[in-house]
Amino acid sequence: MSSGCDHAIEYIYQYLDDEISWTRSTRIKIHLRRCSSCMDAYEFETKLKSVIRERGAAEPPPELFDTIRTMLQNESKNTNTD
Ligand SMILES: [Zn+2]
Repeated sequence: MSSGCDHAIEYIYQYLDDEISWTRSTRIKIHLRRCSSCMDAYEFETKLKSVIRERGAAEPPPELFDTIRTMLQNESKNTNTD
């Protein structure tokens, strides 16, 4: 993890909600490209958000986190075998 991680994680949520300026979102994009741990967090939040939106759930049930983690793991397996 680089020193920019704390800020990146902090802004990922706002970035997903389109609540930050383009300068900050650009910085996050650059950071995500260089930092796999923040990229994982970003992908997880993106997935979680879309599933919550699809289901119309206000509070994500705990099993949803496992489902999304499995989805992400399967996806990375698929990309690795390409
Ligand atoms: Zn990072």
